[in-house]
Amino acid sequence: MSRVSRDDIAAALANVIDEESGNDVMSTGLVQGLVVREGHVGFSLEVDPAKGAEKEPLRAACEAAAKNVPGVLSVTAVLTAHRAAGQSPSPARGHSHSHQAQAHPGERAPQGAMKIPGVKAIVAIASGKGGVGKSTVAVNLALALAKLGRRVGLLDADIYGPSIPRMMGLTGKPESKDGKKLLPKVKYGIKTMSIGYLVNEDTPMIWRGPMVQSALTQMMSDVEWGELDVLIIDMPPGTGDAQLTMAQRVPLTGAVVVSTPQEIALIDARKGFAMFEKTHIPVFGIVENMAYFVSPGSGEKSYIFGQGGARRMAEKLGCDFLGEIPLHMSIREKSDSGEPIAATAPESDEARPFIEIARRIGEHLDRALGGGARKAPAIAIED
Ligand code: ADP
Repeated sequence: MSRVSRDDIAAALANVIDEESGNDVMSTGLVQGLVVREGHVGFSLEVDPAKGAEKEPLRAACEAAAKNVPGVLSVTAVLTAHRAAGQSPSPARGHSHSHQAQAHPGERAPQGAMKIPGVKAIVAIASGKGGVGKSTVAVNLALALAKLGRRVGLLDADIYGPSIPRMMGLTGKPESKDGKKLLPKVKYGIKTMSIGYLVNEDTPMIWRGPMVQSALTQMMSDVEWGELDVLIIDMPPGTGDAQLTMAQRVPLTGAVVVSTPQEIALIDARKGFAMFEKTHIPVFGIVENMAYFVSPGSGEKSYIFGQGGARRMAEKLGCDFLGEIPLHMSIREKSDSGEPIAATAPESDEARPFIEIARRIGEHLDRALGGGARKAPAIAIED
């Protein structure tokens, strides 16, 4: 059998044309992190976050082109989204006369501002940029926490690309018993609410920013969450005004920052960390997603983007490194087909990191809640 090389795959991908630019996906730099191990191929396509869904046919074309190379056994191609620097996904300007809460760094939610009765803790899953797998991590961590025996809710507040409906395989408008409160949609033992159930997918992006506050308020206070140990919030990606406002309006018990190992993603993750620091919200830790590629054949690990970047950053920032999650075909396939791995194959090697990270988050939660009020920073001041 011929041994397939990275060059063979690169040559095949050089025949795939991105219609938007008219150039091939290799020369435009769309293909990132190309790795080939024993006939198993993995890579990501870096696309504009606003064009995620539109680019799915291109992803499929790249996957097909790579699969056609003789000797290729499997192909894992994922769409990831870079947001250009300075292009923060904040609400459209010019709406400051609306009743949106204005964000002021250094402030945090007035205690009880949007407290949800019956919900013991709220944890934000955040990322400095789009496309790092924040939603995948949020969904699987919510499911893993449920597996560990907690009563879990999952709130999809990613107004720019709500993906919880697709990842959980849920569609349609939420029901209401009394015409006032919405009932969360329940699947795999967790309660979910998504802006995707409420806002039509065709709603232009520009309208979504101004909608964020009213939609968030609605999703938090007008939903019958019932008794929950923890509500996981899938935050919009980035560190713009919308995220800052959200971090301030919601009484968060803690936050988890998701990053990929690339330098640029880590820089953005640091901004995410800084945003929570500014609003005095404890960061439980950093999760490194797509940390390494696992060959579906031998299970061999390849650290495509270098090893240990997120761990070192966590050390530098003085927060926990919660764990690393592999780039694995089944994680993508299962989350894209509404059967997330932590629910449907919790014993698998790919699901195990989610369970371990959920356990660590559980420890943080127990400490945060067990200590009564939010704990003071661990600085000993001697007199
Ligand atoms: P974000 O919420 O940060 O924009 P998503 O969670 O939507 O990112 O993930 C982007 C794409 O990458 C999705 O197609 C998802 O299935 C895929 N993906 C995310 N994490 C992994 C992983 N660890 N292994 C394989 N595919 C992944």
